[in-house]
Amino acid sequence: MQNFQQYIGGAFSNGSAQFPSHDPATGKVWAMMPEARTEDVNAAVNAAHDAFCDPSWATMTASARGKLLYRLADLIAENAPKLAQLETRDTGKIIRETSAQIAYVAEYYRYYAGLADKIEGAHLPIDKPDMEVWLRREPIGVVAAIVPWNSQLFLSAVKIGPALAAGCTVVLKASEDGPAPMLEFARIFDQAGFPPGVLNVITGFGAECGAVLTAHPKVDHVAFTGGPDTARQIVRNSAENLASTSLELGGKSPFIVFEDADIESAVNAQISGIFAATGQSCVAGSRLIISNKIKDAFLARLKEKAEAVVIGAPDDMQTEIGPLCTQGQLTTAVDLVAASKAAGAKVITGGKAIDREGTYFPPTIIDCTDAPDAPCLSAEFFGPVLSVLSFDSEAEALQLANDTAFGLASGVFTKDLTRAHRMIRGIRAGIVWVNTYRAVSPIAPFGGHGLSGHGREGGIQAALDYTKIKAVWLRTSDEPIPDPFVMR
Ligand code: NAD
Repeated sequence: MQNFQQYIGGAFSNGSAQFPSHDPATGKVWAMMPEARTEDVNAAVNAAHDAFCDPSWATMTASARGKLLYRLADLIAENAPKLAQLETRDTGKIIRETSAQIAYVAEYYRYYAGLADKIEGAHLPIDKPDMEVWLRREPIGVVAAIVPWNSQLFLSAVKIGPALAAGCTVVLKASEDGPAPMLEFARIFDQAGFPPGVLNVITGFGAECGAVLTAHPKVDHVAFTGGPDTARQIVRNSAENLASTSLELGGKSPFIVFEDADIESAVNAQISGIFAATGQSCVAGSRLIISNKIKDAFLARLKEKAEAVVIGAPDDMQTEIGPLCTQGQLTTAVDLVAASKAAGAKVITGGKAIDREGTYFPPTIIDCTDAPDAPCLSAEFFGPVLSVLSFDSEAEALQLANDTAFGLASGVFTKDLTRAHRMIRGIRAGIVWVNTYRAVSPIAPFGGHGLSGHGREGGIQAALDYTKIKAVWLRTSDEPIPDPFVMR
C-alpha cells in the first residue's frame, strides 16, 4: 500500500486524516491519500500568502521566475514515465494517453517560462502636460487552483504555469479521485528550486477542503475546472472573499459532418473525439450531427470502428478504452443510457456496463433522431457515449449545434470553404475545429461560455489574467500644486 503526502510551505505531511484511493481497473484500494481539512487548508493558504509577500519571490525578477519554470519543465519531462504510471494507476486513464499527455505538459510550462518576462505594462499618452502615467501589471495574489480527476497534470499546468509566470503563488487542490499524480508532482516541483510556499498541493473533499479554500479571505483568485454545479458553489463562496474566478466547466459539444466531408477522416476524428480518454473529456464531441445524405453509411463505418476499439487494462499499451474513473461515473452512464432508451432513443452499439472487474463501459452510440428529448442529448455523460442527430440543411445543422446550454468545443467536417466559414461564425462555442478535433496547444486559448464557464486557459491572455493593473501617476512639474479644491 502506497502512502502519499500533501505539500505545504515546502514541507511534506500526512494531513489531518487519510482516505483510501481505489484502482479503477480492479476496484481495490491501492494507496492512502492525505485528506486536507480546515486546518490544512488554512496552513496552505497562509504559506502561499507568506510566500507571495516574501522578498525571495516578491522581488525575484521575471526572468528568474522563467528560469525556474524551465527547470520545472525539464524535471517533468524527466519524470514523465513515473507520472504517467501513477495517473494511469489512480484514475484508470490509459497509459497510451497519460504517457503522451504528460510529455506535452512539460511544453506548457516551457511556454509560460518564456512568457514570464514578456508580461508588460504600458505608458499612457495622458491628457495633462505635467504628468507621466503608466500601468504596471502586478500578480493578482494567492490563487486557489482546483482540478477534477481527469487529466489533472494537464489541467493544473494551465493554471500553475501562467500563475507562477505572472508572480502569483498557488494552492492547488487535487481531486479526491485519483490525486496521486498531483502529489507526486509536488515532489518534482520541490526539486525545481522555487522558494517554499510558492506552490502548495493538497487534496480533499468538496465541503471540508474545496469550500474552505475558495472562501478563504487570503485567496485572491479561484481557477476552477470541474462541473457546473460545483462552479455555482464556488461563485457563491467568492461572495465571501470577493475573489475573481475563472471557470472551465463541462460540454456537450457538437460534431457536425456534411455530406462532402472525407468520411474516413471524419469517422476517425469522431472515434477519437468521443472515445479517447474513455469519453471522460470536457471537449468530447458527444453530439454527432450528421447529414441525412450520408447518415447510414457514416453510422455503419462508425459502428464497425467503435466495436473494434480495444478495451482492456489501462496499463496495457494496446488498450484504447480503459475503466471509468469511479463507480459513480459508471452509474451515471448506465442510468443515462436507460433514461434515453425510455425516451425513445435507439442504442446502435454498446449501452451496458461490461461484466468484468473494474468500472468498464463500452463505446456506445445512441441514435436520437426520433427522441429529441432524450436526456443523453443534454446531460454531460463524461463517458464513452455518443448521441446522434441528423439534418437536411446547413441551417438545421447550425440550429442543432447551438441547441445546448454548454458552449465549449465544436467540430465541423466539410470540404466547402465558404460553408466552413459560415459555420465558424454561427457556432456558439469557445473552440471550433474544422476537419480536425481535440487538437490543443499551450499557444492557443481554451475555454467556453454559457454552462461551459468563462475565462480562457492557454495562450498569452491566460498569463495576463493572473495580473492586475496598477495605474501610476507621477507629476513632473516643480511648481507648487495650485488650487487644492480643483481636481486636475
Ligand atoms: P467536480 O465539479 O465534481 O469536482 C471538481 C473539483 O472540485 C474536485 O477537486 C472537487 O473536490 C472540487 N469541489 C467539489 N465541491 C467543491 C466546493 N464546494 N468548493 C470547491 N471545490 C469543490 O467535477 P468532476 O466530476 O470531478 O469532473 C468532471 C467535470 O469536470 C465535468 O463536468 C467536466 O466536463 C469538467 N471538466 C472541464 C474541463 C475544461 O477544461 N473545461 C476539463 C476537464 C473536466
